[in-house]
Amino acid sequence: MRIAILADVHANLAALEAVLRHAEAQAATDALWCLGDTVDYGPQPSECIARLRGLGTVAVAGNHDRAATGAIGTEEFNPDAATAAVWTRARLSQDDAAYLNALPEVAYAGAGRDASPEAGASGAEFTLVHGTLRDPIWEYLHSHEAALAHLERQQTPFSFVGHTHIPVLVLPGDEFPHGCELYHLEDGARRQLPGDRKLVINPGGVGQPRDGDPRAAYAVYDSEQKTITVHRVEYDIPATQRLMEDAGLPRWLIERLAIGR
Ligand code: ZN
Repeated sequence: MRIAILADVHANLAALEAVLRHAEAQAATDALWCLGDTVDYGPQPSECIARLRGLGTVAVAGNHDRAATGAIGTEEFNPDAATAAVWTRARLSQDDAAYLNALPEVAYAGAGRDASPEAGASGAEFTLVHGTLRDPIWEYLHSHEAALAHLERQQTPFSFVGHTHIPVLVLPGDEFPHGCELYHLEDGARRQLPGDRKLVINPGGVGQPRDGDPRAAYAVYDSEQKTITVHRVEYDIPATQRLMEDAGLPRWLIERLAIGR
């Protein structure tokens, strides 16, 4: 079984479509897991929700999914993000908002296993969460300390996180001075799942990458090979930027897509 793992689509339909095409062409994926922040920043929130729902995606909530419905405030957002959240909120249908509000903060999944929150962690291979298990909606997993706090709470062998928009692998181990190490994952990086220790993977961001590579990022899990592979996919960045300009979305949100920051 092959599963495509997506995070931080951020209402960028051109990037999402490019990733879905790539996933089909490369790996003929059997399922989709999404790590939150499907909406906000980008110009096509409803379209991205509809696309992922139509494919039966297993998804968790991100901070922007909650802010876009008004379920949480935008006080902690920078001014551009707050402007985009208000813009997004006005464009979501009631059904879109209900879908986003119903997303769980944490989900458990595995190849061939029912990925329902009710099933809990027992028997699951993977935990899915947007930020960290210490703070599922808000915390960025980009320090050793945050990684260890997350790993302590991780009840499954492996987990996927999003939120930072940067593809990273976290490996715990006593041989590391901080108790774990964080590795950036380049395009095409393939990692074998270890049998003897936990692992955390961030597949990077689909709709707003932030590691200096503007190409959309996602990962594929191959359950037979027990591998995770990160892919980068080119998409029509100017097309998304034009839609954002037409919508009057903040300038920096438009510009950053071209530089991957
Ligand atoms: Zn995000």
